[in-house]
Amino acid sequence: MHKTLQKYFGYTLFRPLQEDIINDVLSGKDTFVLMPTGGGKSLCFQLPALLMDGMTIVVSPLISLMKDQVDSLVANGIEAVYLNSTLSYSEIKGIKASIVANRVKILYVAPERLMMTETLGLLKSVNVSLFAIDEAHCISEWGHDFRPEYRKLKTLRGKFPSVPIIALTATATPKVRNDIVSELKFKGHNTYVASFDRKNLFYRIKPKNDTYGHLLQYLRETRGKSGIIYCQSRKTVDTLSKKLKKAGFSSLPYHAGLTDKVRTKNQEMFIKDDVQIIVATVAFGMGIDKPNVRFVVHYDLPKNLESYYQETGRGGRDGLECDCILFFGHGDRYKIEYFINKMGKKQERDIALVQLREMIDYCEANSCRRKVLLKYFGEEVEEDNCGNCDVCLEPKEMFDGTEAAKKLLLCVEDLDQRFGMTHVIDVLVGAKTKKIINSRHSMLKSYSAGREYSKSQWQSIARELVRLEVLGVEGTKYPLLKLNPKSMAVLGDSEFVQITKPADEVKISVKGSCAATTKTSKSKSLSRAASKSTPKAKTKSSSKSKSTATKTINATDSELFERLRVLRKTLANRANLPPYIIFADTSLRQMAAKRPTTAQDFLEITGVAEHKLEKYGGTFLAEIADFCDNDEKPTQSNDQTKPKSEKPVKRPPKISEILKNRAVNPDVLSSSVIETLELYKQHMSVEEIAHIRNLTQSTIAEHMEILVQSKRIDSIDHMVDPDKKCIIENAINDVGDKFLSRIKAKLGDDYSYGEIKLVRAAMMCE
Ligand code: ADP
Ligand code: ZN
Repeated sequence: MHKTLQKYFGYTLFRPLQEDIINDVLSGKDTFVLMPTGGGKSLCFQLPALLMDGMTIVVSPLISLMKDQVDSLVANGIEAVYLNSTLSYSEIKGIKASIVANRVKILYVAPERLMMTETLGLLKSVNVSLFAIDEAHCISEWGHDFRPEYRKLKTLRGKFPSVPIIALTATATPKVRNDIVSELKFKGHNTYVASFDRKNLFYRIKPKNDTYGHLLQYLRETRGKSGIIYCQSRKTVDTLSKKLKKAGFSSLPYHAGLTDKVRTKNQEMFIKDDVQIIVATVAFGMGIDKPNVRFVVHYDLPKNLESYYQETGRGGRDGLECDCILFFGHGDRYKIEYFINKMGKKQERDIALVQLREMIDYCEANSCRRKVLLKYFGEEVEEDNCGNCDVCLEPKEMFDGTEAAKKLLLCVEDLDQRFGMTHVIDVLVGAKTKKIINSRHSMLKSYSAGREYSKSQWQSIARELVRLEVLGVEGTKYPLLKLNPKSMAVLGDSEFVQITKPADEVKISVKGSCAATTKTSKSKSLSRAASKSTPKAKTKSSSKSKSTATKTINATDSELFERLRVLRKTLANRANLPPYIIFADTSLRQMAAKRPTTAQDFLEITGVAEHKLEKYGGTFLAEIADFCDNDEKPTQSNDQTKPKSEKPVKRPPKISEILKNRAVNPDVLSSSVIETLELYKQHMSVEEIAHIRNLTQSTIAEHMEILVQSKRIDSIDHMVDPDKKCIIENAINDVGDKFLSRIKAKLGDDYSYGEIKLVRAAMMCE
């Protein structure tokens, strides 16, 4: 098993449960697997498929994913194919022929096609080793994603009584679980339930004010990384996506109001790293397997924790870090409540309200985010400090809030417990609202008694007191504040309350004194990386969470990583594949850190299997060697601590040779040029790139010239108008290509130096 893992997948270790599951499958048992997204379900059937005689059939409802999964397997040298409605008649004929000839190890098939008499007949004539039912919750009417075509799978057992079945899903309540097992007629099966804790996801809640500003700041820090921004409405999706584009980010929208064609195209560009950010409604996500999503932002409040967790779960599937940031404000809550109250059935309304309440409690809680989330899914987290959420990394300052609590409680009493939070606070801060004037509440003792805090500070104090049950609330539509036994205990000095220091407390003290040392005084970064660098990040359990996944890489490593990323994208474009199928980010990061020089070193990189070594080893080793020539950090071969027994591989071909016909020496492309290339690939113009990078247009034009000459860019068509290009070419033919100024003089003001340089570079390459 380990040998096969290394040889075909390039991994040295199994993830939790994988080994046990695979052992069961190999021994012919039916197996049920419940694992979160990114947990590594696929390997549980792909690896047995390679070890068993015959062909494994994988049933999957997501036609859009089949191709990527099959491409991934083929890239590892595994004979995999798929059968679904996107194929032409002759393609299907060819695939069937290779099945009959026993040339296929893994067949992906949509359920409706599998259950066709013709397909079943075909499978009867060959040796089927295993059925893997992916997204198995689709079989249950109790699940959220029931698909009638899955129902037919229940006849599989009767048709293939001796073939074991493995069913896998990431979402299943006990009811759905039982349904799957009974529908598929499992016998003597084992059930595996993996932890739903995704340790590499960093959770942060951020108050929803100046949301766009904070988002921009965050995106600037994470430029070049892939991420999803979820919004509640199509309108927000469209405007936000446009705004981001205008601000120089590579972003596209995704929602149900776009045509199928546009949606598919946008999704594909995201998967292929051609666009960095997808701004989407909840409609986005099913059917994307992209492993390198580095952030998931919730621009608006999600309606319930279940969908929130699923959406954040689309990040970091490769096991590397992912920031999950949610902007939370009470305005969103009222908006959602408004829609809930319009729902027809009372029962539906009640369920939705409870779910919303749970969502808000999560946002307001003062305990570990992970703990709250997992508890919701019935899992207990033992450690107090997960080391990877904002609460654990930056514990909020607490203070003795007894005095504040008493003021608030007295005010509630003064008002005969007949008013809601807003009015009570208005009275406390001495506001002059109509309601106060009309009811003469300014005559109350409590009026203006709480001027030391602002309205919003009182709101957060009051909400916390409600959470702590020091203050009661009655009624759902117009909730009134009420006193309860705990309130009385506080008022009677027999109980004290510890509460969080209200957020903008600092602003007050900054004005009055020089206590500006506190954290909220300047705008802070939202990423986990930034949290980690604060002194408070040293937490009890941080050693545990310090997996290789969250290790940050140093500057030169990240420069090399960027170069490898560019190379990966170039190769991916040529093969028309998503870049992650060539190598995952995990692999590139290891390459950048370890800097392998030999084939053997290269094989030790995670995710590098034999087939990939053969196919891409030379190219990547060349790029690494080339980078190291100009950098003093030791490569693996000149690292003194390592025995030098291995014979280096033949000097691998230079990247330039692979990229053919080079005109300038592309080996020394500076990182600056590479950055320009990255932006260019996001379909930005010279002008936009110059603006974003804060460089002159002429510098960017020079970069483009180098890129054209080194063949990193094959066409300048979308940068120079074809008619203009033709005229510039004529001018260059007339006056020669030596002196730019002469060419420019001939052409006049309608032609920029940038355009001339680009056309000249393209001509030199021809
Ligand atoms: P799931 O189907 O459960 O969402 P996948 O099967 O797509 O998850 O696996 C998620 C990622 O983890 C993939 O990039 C996969 O290559 C990687 N992976 C799976 N098993 C291992 C392993 N044993 N070691 C390292 N990476 C693994
Ligand atoms: Zn935590």
